[in-house]
Amino acid sequence: MEIPFNKTYFTGKELEYIENVLNTGHVSGDGVYTKKVKKILRYILNVENIFMTTSCTHAIEMAVMLADIKRGDEVILPSFTFPSTANAIILRGGTPVFAEIKVKDINMDMEDVFNKITRKTKAVIPTHYGGTGCDMDALSNMLQGEDIWTIEDAAQGFFSKYKDKPLGTLGDFGCYSFHGTKNYVSGEGGGLIINGSNPEMIERAHIIHQKGTNRTKFINGKVDKYSWVGEGSSYAPSDILMAVLYAQIESVEHIRINRKKIHNLYNNAFNDYINKGILLSISDEPDNWQSNYHLFYMVFDDEYKKEKFIKIMGERGISVYTHYVPLHMSEMGMKLGYREKDLPKTSHVGRTLVRLPMYTSMSEEECLYVIENAVDILERF
Ligand SMILES: *Cc1c(COP(=O)(O)O)cnc(C)c1O
Repeated sequence: MEIPFNKTYFTGKELEYIENVLNTGHVSGDGVYTKKVKKILRYILNVENIFMTTSCTHAIEMAVMLADIKRGDEVILPSFTFPSTANAIILRGGTPVFAEIKVKDINMDMEDVFNKITRKTKAVIPTHYGGTGCDMDALSNMLQGEDIWTIEDAAQGFFSKYKDKPLGTLGDFGCYSFHGTKNYVSGEGGGLIINGSNPEMIERAHIIHQKGTNRTKFINGKVDKYSWVGEGSSYAPSDILMAVLYAQIESVEHIRINRKKIHNLYNNAFNDYINKGILLSISDEPDNWQSNYHLFYMVFDDEYKKEKFIKIMGERGISVYTHYVPLHMSEMGMKLGYREKDLPKTSHVGRTLVRLPMYTSMSEEECLYVIENAVDILERF
């Protein structure tokens, strides 16, 4: 059997909706399907202000612009995340400050965040790893009364919850990805949530989203032509992409439940190896919160076992992958002056974490084949 690492899932409705868009003739941004997607997202997330974007990268860029990050400002984020999170800061002249993760859930260690806050800290960007929420209560308690923004990188966290609130709706800003490798896809795409109801902030967001123009005011009939009014870029996705996303969001629960089955089979099969000391942690769902089961990871106690595991699984037709090169260990991180020993837990996880195949259409038979082979290898260690 050949088991791919990931397979993009389509619900079957996508083509019909794309055709509807083509029939309207309006294929640029802010068309019928963008409106439909925003409406259903407002309902699911219970939020008011949503901007659909061309990617999560762009949603984070918008948030960092709205937070007014400038040269000399520090922004704290985990090192174990995608480069987009850090690039958004660099692009505004800010300084990324990398915090440690916890080996248990691969999410940011809030004690380390606390230690890294200085007078220059202007924002914190927690990444919710694998669809499991960071400790947002600890973060918000820590930042109480401080002039520091929270921007959630919920790229992997759409339709997950922290306690009873959707990820992406807990901070000042929340950023989602609908990239082809995520659970809910438009191909390339993202979304920005702005919490709170500061009308000036919302107006600025419209201007940034609309290439630095007051086009939104024009569409709403508030001005009779639109022109350049401020900083901005091109962040609105084509309505064709939003048609694809609409089909996916209609199946939001179905997609989550299919992934839950795979996650639970894996979790039950590998839990024992934590007690045996071979694995330090595996994907788990916190009690009473909701995961979207974006991925399944296991962290080995040493790099040799991880290498061996990937090699043998590969020989048996099963694609397993590591994940991020931690940003502080990357070429760019080194240029910023970081060294591997600066964040020992993150460095260890960067070298010893593997992800198992996980996709919405995965059958129980495929999943059991992965488990059988993985257990066979783990038993030899
Ligand atoms: C996927 C991902 C991104 C980037 O999302 P795009 O939509 O591809 O720009 C950013 N951060 C994290 C944590 C991600 O997993």
